[in-house]
Amino acid sequence: MKNFYKALKTGCFILPFVFAINTLNADALQIVYPKSENTQMSAASTFIIGNTAPDAKLKINDMDVKVYDNGSFVQVVQLNDGKNEIKIDSQNETTHDTLTYIINRVPPQIPESMQAALEEFAPDEFIYAAVLKDNTPLRAQPDEYAKRLTHLPKDTVLMVNGKKGDYYRVSLTPAENVWVKSDSIVKYSTINQKMLASATRVSLSEDKLYNYIKTELSFQIPFKIVETDSGLTMELYNLEKNAADTMLFQTSGDVKSLTINSVAPDKTSTYYIELKNKLWGYRAYYEGNTLVLKIRKAPDIDKEKPFKNITVYLDAGHGADDAGAIGPTGEKEKDINLDVVKKLQKVLEDEGAKVLLTRADDTCVPLYDRVKMMQDSDALISLSIHANALADGADPYEKHGTSVFYYNRESVELAKTLRDVITKKLGTKDDGVGMYSLVMTRPTMPLSVLIEIAYMIHPEEYKLLLEEGFRQKAAESIRDGLREYLLNSVNTDGIN
Ligand SMILES: [Zn+2]
Repeated sequence: MKNFYKALKTGCFILPFVFAINTLNADALQIVYPKSENTQMSAASTFIIGNTAPDAKLKINDMDVKVYDNGSFVQVVQLNDGKNEIKIDSQNETTHDTLTYIINRVPPQIPESMQAALEEFAPDEFIYAAVLKDNTPLRAQPDEYAKRLTHLPKDTVLMVNGKKGDYYRVSLTPAENVWVKSDSIVKYSTINQKMLASATRVSLSEDKLYNYIKTELSFQIPFKIVETDSGLTMELYNLEKNAADTMLFQTSGDVKSLTINSVAPDKTSTYYIELKNKLWGYRAYYEGNTLVLKIRKAPDIDKEKPFKNITVYLDAGHGADDAGAIGPTGEKEKDINLDVVKKLQKVLEDEGAKVLLTRADDTCVPLYDRVKMMQDSDALISLSIHANALADGADPYEKHGTSVFYYNRESVELAKTLRDVITKKLGTKDDGVGMYSLVMTRPTMPLSVLIEIAYMIHPEEYKLLLEEGFRQKAAESIRDGLREYLLNSVNTDGIN
């Protein structure tokens, strides 16, 4: 389960109550979802997930429901507006259990910040503010789910020219306004014109693994980086002047060329970066007032031993109080993820890879700590391993199988190759490759993808996930997918 937004905010959240299913009477009717007998939602349907005696006759609102041989059941229930009463009735020769769940269907809520009135500042009035934390997103709309346009490091200076609800409007250019959450910046003072920076020097350098493009600035300004066919473009905002008028830099390491045009009338400057090989990852940050763009060099892949000198970071999704998805008989996703990760670690190390783990046991590691661990390493690839669940409104009998998620364009091929190889080897349904903004897919370095091996709430797939042999095969299929990706990369890069 990707844990879309909840875990994203809090790191490790505490579940409202502890499941104790396996310690109770094995024949008693147990519901694992919905989590409470009284719930509220806006979806048009939900599902009832649980377990009972394998030989029980089960009815939900008088409809017969299939009970699998391990006692699991999963049933989709349509919801009407307002109060819905759901009666679950389970009966065999010795036991008769009845439970009633109430689900209140309410219309979807429009976020408060979207409904609030816009406070427009005078045309030349700006609040001069700074970003409080690394990785602060600027968004297209004043809403926590709106598209992220760029992420900025701590202390980046912003020019605020409006407010709506919990969000400030930030002026990047006269034509482009974006939004930042009000509690993620510190406001300094109101000024009568935009503060503009100047660049004094641009330099290229390299070491064994990376190329660096460093821009010395008078203060920290916002920027945006976009992946292109040939490399990257980087836009710098609120700039008064460049280090020189038009600059063309020649080859340095894997950078084929760097072109910087003079500052445009809208006070932006664009860097066009062309690479010799495909993009293997990048990250931008400030060192004092110097903006550093760090670009990963193409790895030297040995055709005979593709994992030699390759570092892979493995992340077992969830942990401790965050159980992830719960299967019909109460098994937890966090345990399945960890077991697959350990098996994957073994098969990758057997091939000569260096493997790092975000967690090696049932501990709580907040999501952004996991990202930091990966970014502080020199890992080439990161894989976050999960088993899936669905949100209310979907049908687990229709939507199931293996899926792989990426966020950045540089990771698309990795995601597709993994999906192809895993579904072929495991025989699971192809549930697709998707672009998804998740904490574990957003890093631009290492190359980052999130794999959902199969669904915890699909009774057949759940049975497979509980089999040791299936989890071993899943680990081997991920290794095979990685191997294929590395070998394909040798061919397309033409190195060796
Ligand atoms: Zn998960």
